[in-house]
Amino acid sequence: STPAAIASGLAAGARRGLLVKGGAALEAIGRVRTVAFDKTGTLTAGRPRVTDILPLAPDASERAVLGLAAAVEAGSSHPIARAILERADAEGIPSRPVRDAKAVPGKAVQATVMGWTVAVASPNHARQIAGLDDAADRLVTELEASGKTAVVVVRDGQVLGIVAVRDEPRPDAAAGIAALRAMGVDCVMLTGDNRRTGEAVAGGLGLDVRAELMPEDKLAEIAALKEIGPVAMVGDGINDAPALAAASVGIAMGGGTDAALETADAAILNERVADVAALVALSRATLGNIH
Ligand code: ADP
Ligand code: MG
Repeated sequence: STPAAIASGLAAGARRGLLVKGGAALEAIGRVRTVAFDKTGTLTAGRPRVTDILPLAPDASERAVLGLAAAVEAGSSHPIARAILERADAEGIPSRPVRDAKAVPGKAVQATVMGWTVAVASPNHARQIAGLDDAADRLVTELEASGKTAVVVVRDGQVLGIVAVRDEPRPDAAAGIAALRAMGVDCVMLTGDNRRTGEAVAGGLGLDVRAELMPEDKLAEIAALKEIGPVAMVGDGINDAPALAAASVGIAMGGGTDAALETADAAILNERVADVAALVALSRATLGNIH
């Protein structure tokens, strides 16, 4: 297409909150064969709420489980952390000092609190660092089957309790995916969350799920999809900046994180899933391609 067509395409996008970093990126979006979506913060609003607090150790109370989880999550920007901190705040639980806080991306956060080593971990990671008995396992399965994400609070290698959160799909997610498929674009969900939760969310949206992926697994999925054709990755940048960079086209959902904006080729400021389809349509119109 001509430079004038590209400039007017970029401007038309910008007016609708679709920021594209230049003509090459705009052209690439229309040629995409597959769109890979991150789940949390992309297909869902990324504003999970705490739905369940389940003490499991004999000496644990709801307040103790929530309080220790909140202390460890205080330094994390993950949506699960925000949900836990919000709930602790609502219950008037004072914040506690922690030391040596660190994140294990895709798995857990951990810190030293009141002399204990406390982790808030995915069930799979909790199985490795503490073990889950049958009762805990059953609870996790039930929570996940209803579309919730369960995290396990582990204190000095012992399971203290479970906190569950639920993150609703964005209101236009199903329509946005249907629009992409109508344009001949395949859609998949790449998530670090567990398979049951991923499928419960995806079931209503009509797309393929690849779950329980570590950040490096997301890269491998992108590489495999690229064998078939150009791939766009849509993510909010929390844990998925490398995947945004590895895709043929990286699309940041929202103003998002600085990491996402830096690595992405385009950004969707209004956080609508349907805007991914709008980007593809805009690109194809600019290219003068009718597919
Ligand atoms: P997604 O791909 O859905 O955005 P992530 O890769 O960000 O998910 O996280 C995957 C899983 O790792 C979460 O479902 C959770 O079990 C665990 N996890 C990651 N960060 C945290 C955190 N700050 N607190 C608790 N659990 C976490
Ligand atoms: Mg995410």
